[in-house]
Amino acid sequence: MAKNNPNNEMASGFRRKLLSWYEQNNRDLPWRREDDPYRIWLSEVMLQQTRVEAVIPYYQRFLAAYPTLEAFAEAAEDDVLKLWEGLGYYSRARNFLQAVRDVRAHYDGQVPADPEIFGGLKGVGAYTQSAVCSIAYNVPLAAVDGNVKRVICRLFSIEGELSKAHVQKEIEVKAQSLLDRERPGDYNQALMELGALVCVPKAPRCHLCPVASYCRALAEGNPGRLPEKRKKKPLPVVELTAAVIVRDEGVLVRQRTESLLQGLWEFPNVAAGRDGETAAEALQALLGVKVRLGEEVMRLSHTFSHLRWEMTVLRLTIDDVPPQNPPWVPVDAARLERLAFPVIYHPLLEWIKKQWIKEQSIKE
Ligand code: SF4
Repeated sequence: MAKNNPNNEMASGFRRKLLSWYEQNNRDLPWRREDDPYRIWLSEVMLQQTRVEAVIPYYQRFLAAYPTLEAFAEAAEDDVLKLWEGLGYYSRARNFLQAVRDVRAHYDGQVPADPEIFGGLKGVGAYTQSAVCSIAYNVPLAAVDGNVKRVICRLFSIEGELSKAHVQKEIEVKAQSLLDRERPGDYNQALMELGALVCVPKAPRCHLCPVASYCRALAEGNPGRLPEKRKKKPLPVVELTAAVIVRDEGVLVRQRTESLLQGLWEFPNVAAGRDGETAAEALQALLGVKVRLGEEVMRLSHTFSHLRWEMTVLRLTIDDVPPQNPPWVPVDAARLERLAFPVIYHPLLEWIKKQWIKEQSIKE
């Protein structure tokens, strides 16, 4: 046990050292220059499960399009998904839009400072509630993200897998006990920054750590072993066959209604080998018209947090218009540019664009 383990007596020294390190070492990130609660909230939504470097350009484009809460509340969901395209976890964008519309409708356009009210908005979980309320309104709540969990685990040498409820609880209690109640927003950001820059997952840089003298895991000699990691199971793989059907009116696509990637657009696709059907039979059943398979266009893959898609894309010809129209709609080049597609389809969209340009130049 470190001689200065952060208990009540030591906590004020711990906070002082952490905050002073943060003042000298924090990264200049666009949301740290903001005091508008809407803009702070947006950053926290985008940063969930996503790296800072990936978020920055999205954050800037988003605020250029919707600089205020009022402007965003007026946005069309399709336009928001287009701006979010490639950032992943699209339910964040849909929930944020719904929550902002509720703020405009019920709270006079002011992001609620009361954590109970704010936490009741669509998509606002415990982390977002604490982060936004502490940073925007100085509410003394500890924000516990993945970085903070790791730091707290090491500081207090907490054993057990992070996924266990009792481990989560212990981390939350310790995090709240350490919180600087005078400057909760700065303190929360400082602890997250420590996790991002110094107390990193694989090889913590303890020689640079401003609170090393408080760290029990360091005193025990092997801080990198915490938090305990769950053995990763291999991800299930879903094999898909997708079809490019180009007709005079455009290429056939539909808007997804499934919870995964809801609201984004996609090409006709089927799971390979389901119920012994061939891909042609399954695509025929999906579209409701006779199909003729053409050559393979490309193979694509995408890994989600919980599964992996492996996709073979084929050219497909149909003589009749699919009877279900919608959902299957032909889309021309100009409209295709404006629709949001999952990242897996982006190489295919490029390919279609090139085909169209080629065909256009042959006609001319
Ligand atoms: Fe993390 Fe090392 Fe600092 Fe402990 S001393 S908090 S393990 S960086």
